[in-house]
Amino acid sequence: MRLKMFFLFIVVLLSLLWVVCRPDSPPMASDEALGGPLIPVEKAPGQIMEAPLEDFLIQVLAAEMPAAFHPAALQAQAVAARTYIAAHLPPYGAYRHPQAAVCCDPGHCQAYASLETLQADWGDAYAENWQKIRQAVAATAGQILFYEENVAETPYHSCCGGSTEAAGACWSQALPYLQAHACPYCARSPKLAGSRVLSLEQAAQAVPCGKEDLLHMAAVSHTPGGRIGFLRIGGKNYRGTELRQIWQLPSAAFTWLIQGDHIAFLSLGYGHGVGLCQYGADGMAAAGKTYRQILDFYYPGCRLWQMDGYAQYATEDR
Ligand SMILES: [Zn+2]
Ligand SMILES: [Zn+2]
Repeated sequence: MRLKMFFLFIVVLLSLLWVVCRPDSPPMASDEALGGPLIPVEKAPGQIMEAPLEDFLIQVLAAEMPAAFHPAALQAQAVAARTYIAAHLPPYGAYRHPQAAVCCDPGHCQAYASLETLQADWGDAYAENWQKIRQAVAATAGQILFYEENVAETPYHSCCGGSTEAAGACWSQALPYLQAHACPYCARSPKLAGSRVLSLEQAAQAVPCGKEDLLHMAAVSHTPGGRIGFLRIGGKNYRGTELRQIWQLPSAAFTWLIQGDHIAFLSLGYGHGVGLCQYGADGMAAAGKTYRQILDFYYPGCRLWQMDGYAQYATEDR
């Protein structure tokens, strides 16, 4: 009995020690600075901060891709995100905001996670995840993609659903390296298939159109990537990308079923589908591909380039 009490005492003591001694503050970015050029960032409307590019990028990457992804996928994503920032930095391009290169609004520029958010999201895995993300940024420090003499456009999305999309089918500008092509690597993604059920009334009000119009709607065209190009509803053509917003669907690759008073939308993938497919990148990494091979697959014809001001790193070209 006494021995039992002793063991219990030891267990309680060890638990207390763990609680008291475990690191309760996150490693600060400034403790392990990666450096890079200082860039002005609009953290919130009207709030400008200056941060070294590589350190800023750690928190962008943490917000843009799950830390559980393989290192090569994180490295490819780091290059894509850095390229976007570089495209809005002199001498490569112009600021996207009056006083800042980029902002932290994912709907406008790129997502950015604060240390507090990361600590809350990652919990006990904080230190490990931070190191993993930081390593992906450090391993590609200063590397961006060029197409011919310009910094490339490097859009990315969660899951393409089996085929990426042509930039020209999604936005106004077509680019030779952003064409639709098959992506077999995201086939096991949890975002591969989606569904959303709305009442006919809700769906009609959102367009807006009559409920009857929904019964007769039909796809007029499909994009090169197999998404809805235009859908005809009540004598009017709507873009697939527009309807995706209107009905809040995971992607524009959708079909539908009407039963009674409801309409069920069934979709493939998540996001616009242009450029890098994040789950596909992770699938490629799992299959042993390097970040360069991933970038080659999603941005074919672009080349990796070392930004100016990274004298400490060897200039790499390929
Ligand atoms: Zn912005
Ligand atoms: Zn994909």
